[in-house]
Amino acid sequence: MSAELPFANPAAATPAPDAAAAVLTIDLAAVAENRRRLAALAPNGRCAAVVKADGYGLGAQMVAGALAADGCRDFFVAVADEAFALRPTLPDDARLYVLGGLIGPGAAAAYAAAGIRPVLNDLGEIADWAALAARLGRSLPAAIHIDTGMRRLGLGPDALEILAIKAAELLRGVDVALWVSHLACAEDPADPLNAAQLTDFRAALARLPKAPASLANSSGVFLGAAWRFDLLRPGVALYGVNPTPGRDNPMLPTVRVDARVLQVRNVDSPMTVGYGAAHRVGRPSRIATVAAGYADGYLRSAGGRGVVCFNGAAAPVVGRVSMDLLTVDVGGLPDGAVKPGDWAQIIGPDIPVDAVAERAGTIGYEILTSLGRRYRRVYGPLGGGNGL
Ligand SMILES: *Cc1c(COP(=O)(O)O)cnc(C)c1O
Repeated sequence: MSAELPFANPAAATPAPDAAAAVLTIDLAAVAENRRRLAALAPNGRCAAVVKADGYGLGAQMVAGALAADGCRDFFVAVADEAFALRPTLPDDARLYVLGGLIGPGAAAAYAAAGIRPVLNDLGEIADWAALAARLGRSLPAAIHIDTGMRRLGLGPDALEILAIKAAELLRGVDVALWVSHLACAEDPADPLNAAQLTDFRAALARLPKAPASLANSSGVFLGAAWRFDLLRPGVALYGVNPTPGRDNPMLPTVRVDARVLQVRNVDSPMTVGYGAAHRVGRPSRIATVAAGYADGYLRSAGGRGVVCFNGAAAPVVGRVSMDLLTVDVGGLPDGAVKPGDWAQIIGPDIPVDAVAERAGTIGYEILTSLGRRYRRVYGPLGGGNGL
């Protein structure tokens, strides 16, 4: 299956002399396939796409365009500016929600004019949206967020009580397209909060006017059918991060980063490598210097813990991660296996984003949303081993 690109790929259209130091490859067809796999689990096949934070670093416009071409009609971003940038690129019949609600003065009118839907997070926002609907003389669609345990955004128990009692009055002019809640511990199926949030969400829905409901983020989809409701709301699983930690990843990888080897040098004890002389060489070895660093989103916390791959063979990142460079001990690979000009795979089929995250002491979400702007970006298939 392949999702057609909605617009030309600028990287592919300008074949420059190949001076790229590091290449970020993004497979939009894999993103589309991941959404289809999730949609197949939805009771009615409806699966939204969360494309906040520039599509988790992959490019919100490219991701949303590919998914819209593949039939997706529900999109979520976090903040207003993301929505204003994305809305004109989406089909007219696509629905675009802002999770952060009505952000800043005048937000309601600006959203309505642009055809953007807020996720209303408190009674004040509901009142603002209803007031605008009255002024415009038409009903306005929105989602409403019921807090069931995240305690971050959404109507808490007191506000829910008031809304349940006075729904007809408070929701006049508000076309409730979706009741939303958000899970706090979905990646841990054993956490009792998952069942508690489900129970509370069901109880809230029973007291509110009938409308479609959405509870499951990526991991929530895999808690079971009861959590899926009318619209799945995944983000990170679309992009290939494992929504079922500790079990096999049901998603396809969508991102690959390869960086060029700039130098290979021999080292021996008692030399040190890199800033702070943080790596002490204990035996004769070889260090490959690779053209990616923390400015590219290769987290500094992966220094001394990360791994990169050369044609499928792993080698450890030693010493500190610099802004533009990594130092990799390739002494364990055959002589001549790694030469200047070769490519090191930093994220990809050989070293999945979840493994990169674990070695950096973080989660796949942070690795993806940290991907730097300096990479040569290519939208296309990820390919197999090294060599691009
Ligand atoms: C970010 C977010 C999502 C998507 O979460 P993933 O874990 O990336 O699937 C869904 N709903 C809300 C409210 C969010 O903030």
